[in-house]
Amino acid sequence: MLILVSNDDGIGAAGLQALAAALAYLGRVVVVAPDRERSAVGHALTLHRPLRLTELRPDWYAVDGTPTDCVHLGVHGILDRLPDLLVAGINHGPNLGDDLTYSGTVGVALEGALFGIPSLAVSLVAREGFHFGPAAEVARELAAQVAERGLPDGTLLNVNVPNVARLDDLRGIRTTRQGRRRFGSGVERKTDPRGRGYYWIGGEELGYVAEDPGTDVEAVAHGRVSVTPVRTDLTDHGFLEALRGWAL
Ligand code: MN
Repeated sequence: MLILVSNDDGIGAAGLQALAAALAYLGRVVVVAPDRERSAVGHALTLHRPLRLTELRPDWYAVDGTPTDCVHLGVHGILDRLPDLLVAGINHGPNLGDDLTYSGTVGVALEGALFGIPSLAVSLVAREGFHFGPAAEVARELAAQVAERGLPDGTLLNVNVPNVARLDDLRGIRTTRQGRRRFGSGVERKTDPRGRGYYWIGGEELGYVAEDPGTDVEAVAHGRVSVTPVRTDLTDHGFLEALRGWAL
């Protein structure tokens, strides 16, 4: 089995190393990852400058581009066929609810799904004190199942693993839907040393709506692994009928 692995935290990230090591039990792992951290670039593709690819060691490649660029270069520049599986991560931080479209990790899996490769994005729910071992084992188990069963065309799995020291500390796996984030006034205006104003997006961390039953956010709040099927098709099929009733 041929497995393409990428991330958005960069080729040197501990989460990527742990994931690649765990997946090596399933087959040949080829890592193509950004040469530096590229978190929150979403599904961006580089179209207006050249991309450089550096082989660091056999089957490990760094790209001076986005996570999505890595999928393109991996499939068309390095591998001579489509991989059997694509796994993104393990992200250093959660990718839950409304954050999915910002996520470079999910961007990798979206691109994989668009290529027709069974794809998963795996994230660790922590901001510090990361335990990648248990998450890597979960990733391997899920990856093995995805490889065996396949996924529907245009569907990927978004996986979030609670940050626990031992695999036994996880309280099961839940299949979930996307939850919601609480947004605050997330822009700060400051003044730089030369007297010019600047803005910084982020502001206070308000967290997620953890009470919503059946969501990714609720599952991880209860110490459970969350597995959400995500579609590349962003159409609101439910509203489509109502929209047809408008006088457009
Ligand atoms: Mn990241």
